Order: sequence, then C-alpha cells, then structure tokens
Amino acid sequence: MAPRPAPCRLLLSLLLLSAAATRAHAGPPDLSALVERHLPATVADRRWLHQHPELSGREDSTRAYLAGRVAAIDGPVPVPGDWGLGLVYVLAGDRPGPTVLWRADMDGLPIAEDVAVPFRSIRADTLESGLVTGVMHACGHDIHMSVALGALRILADLRRELRGRVVFVFQPAEETGAGAEAMIAAGVLAGPFAPDRVFALHDHPTLLAGQAAVCSGPATANVDGFRLTVRGTGGHGAYPHRTVDPVSLAARMVLALNDVVAREVDPDHPAVVSIGSIHGGAKSNVIPDEVVVEATVRTRDAEARAAIQAKIERTVHGLAAAAGAPAPLLEYQLGTPAGYNDPAVASEVEAVLRRILGPENVLTYLPGMGGEDFGRFSCEVPGMQFRLGVGRPDRAMSLHSASFDPDERSLEVGIELVAAILLDQLER
Ligand SMILES: [Zn+2]
Ligand SMILES: [Zn+2]
Repeated sequence: MAPRPAPCRLLLSLLLLSAAATRAHAGPPDLSALVERHLPATVADRRWLHQHPELSGREDSTRAYLAGRVAAIDGPVPVPGDWGLGLVYVLAGDRPGPTVLWRADMDGLPIAEDVAVPFRSIRADTLESGLVTGVMHACGHDIHMSVALGALRILADLRRELRGRVVFVFQPAEETGAGAEAMIAAGVLAGPFAPDRVFALHDHPTLLAGQAAVCSGPATANVDGFRLTVRGTGGHGAYPHRTVDPVSLAARMVLALNDVVAREVDPDHPAVVSIGSIHGGAKSNVIPDEVVVEATVRTRDAEARAAIQAKIERTVHGLAAAAGAPAPLLEYQLGTPAGYNDPAVASEVEAVLRRILGPENVLTYLPGMGGEDFGRFSCEVPGMQFRLGVGRPDRAMSLHSASFDPDERSLEVGIELVAAILLDQLER
C-alpha cells in the first residue's frame, strides 16, 4: 500500500484531535485530581466538627467554623438573609445555567460518645430539663458538612467552566425538625437564588463506604405527634368508684390508639402510631387527676396523614366521654413532611452514582418511616436525597448510637459524588 500523502495524514490527525477534544468537552470532567487535592482539608474539617458537636439550635461554634472555612475559598459569596445559625452561599459559574441547591445539616445529638478515636467529642451540654449530657455527631452530620465543604472547594476550582449556580445551605436543627422550616420561612427557596432543584445526602451505616443507595418517589415519612393529657377526677385508691380514673382511661386509650392503624387505616397507606411516653400518678394508692401520653405518628401520604389525625381525635374524645371524664387535651403537632425524591431527578443522580461507584455499588432502598427535615425542601422543589455508605465490613452500627463510628473513606467518595452530581445537574 502506498504511503498516505502527508497533507492527508495531517488532516486525519487534526480530525482525530478534534474528535478527542469534543469527547473530552462533552464527557464529565475527571475529578480525581481535585478530590485528592481537597481530601486532607475534608478529613480535617470532619474531625474538627466531630470533636465539637453542638445540639440543635445551639450550633454557634459550628457556624463560626464553617464560615471561616468557606471564607478561605475563592468563589462562594454569602447570600444575605435571616438564616439564624444557618449559612447560605452561592457559587456562580461563568456561564448561564440552572440554580441547584445543596443542603447539609449541622446538629449533633445528646449522646455521650463511646468511640475511642483521637478526635472524639469533647463537648457536653445541659438540656432544658437540667440534665447534663455528652454531645455527639451520632447522626453523621459532621460527614454531611465536611463533604459539602469539600464539594464546594472542588466546584470553586472549576467555576470558570461552570454553568449556572450552586447554593450551598448549612442548616441547623435538623434533629428537632425546626431548622429547615425556619430557613424556608426566611426565604432560602425564594428570591434571586431560588433553586430549580434541591439535593442532600444522608450517611448510612448499613451501606459500606464506597456504596450508595437511591430511592425513587416517597423517601421519608411525615413525622407528626401528639401530647395527650387524659383528665379524670383523682381520689383515694381504695374508693375508685368515687373517682374518674385517668390511669385506667389512658390504658384503654393506648390500646385503642394502637388499633387505629391496625383496624382503620388502609394497609396500602403505611402508618405508625407509637406511644413512647406515659406518665401519671405518684403513689400506688392515689388515683391522679391526669395522665400525660406522648406519641409519634408516621405516615407517608397526605390522605393518611389527615385521616389518622381525625381518627385519633375521635378515639380519645369518644373514650373519655364513655368514661364520664372531662374532655382530654389533645395537642397534635404536624411536623416534618414526607420527603419526595422526584423520579426523574433520582434516575439522573443514580446514573452519576453508577458511573463513579460502579453499578454493583449502587443499591435501591424502600422508604421507611423515618423522617428528615430535608423533606421540607424536596416537597417544595424537585430534588432528591441519597444515602451515602459509611459502614464498615467488620462491624454493625446504627445512627443515633454512642458507638456510631463511620468509615472516613466515605469522605473521599462523598466529595466526588456530590461534586459530580452538581456538575451533572448544572449541565441540564
Ligand atoms: Zn438523626
Ligand atoms: Zn441525620
């Protein structure tokens, strides 16, 4: 075969080069060098935050630490607003595009840490009851914050190539369900940086570091509850017929309330009523005037949510009337709404997770009856929350436990996943 004439070879090389350039431009950027660059700071952030946890609504030093770390990054700008102990930053790319919100929660729990790491919690605090308790990041919100910071650093390095804007939200008081509500009321989903989509992750110890899981559609439960004061007429335990016994009445109410879900709610609409606290009386032979019952009520859809509240009201008032007791005081609290993972968004995120972790490491999960106040974001704006594996192969762990000890290798995975998900979303 005659050698190809030189100009033709040149043309072919140019064509190949241009094809390679097109592929490189169209494909997702390789984040590994940026992940490597920012991993040490991410680990340092996680350890500082882990060592200095704060209870819901008291995240002052957490806020100061985060603000200091973000101030050292070139690119993000604070979004003015009445965010309380929260922080909001916007990182704007040089090209037009969508606005995507990433939320990380900030609070720890009143748990004394029982993990022997050099950066174990050094914090204690006093509860409203006066009880002094250790404080611990036992829900892994230290992971959430440090991963968000790491992803912010990666995207700040790439901001000349970014489309659109990312709003990073650091939110206090997730564990009490108050933080998201307050930030949304203050306008974090509105105004000039109103997001087109909202995202978050939650660490999960039954998934190993290097794994993730997604859920499409309903993802968490409506978390409601009530405080029920059962009223009677107290008296001597020897003469119950001269009293209206609220202990006996409360016991009947507890059994009847358990039957509300078992007998009155459509099994296709998941619901839970769990009575976690019942207090009344001070002495065996004294019938008290009242008994206080507290419960959590979980549902997944609005229909069951409204129906179960009405059934609980009917049940307690009906039983009190039957006993000849005064009307009970039912203080019903509608709390965090159910989170919803938009199916289209969830499949976009799942594709990114599978590309980075490999399909075998991306699982699906069914929604449980747990709650997360990110539900307030995802029921207003399309978005999703995925689970990041932080488990260890040799140890079973659970969230909200004194022995919760997430695998720090999840940090490297986390910052790459979050950066990749946000980059993918900004190109849409
Ligand atoms: Zn938690
Ligand atoms: Zn949590």
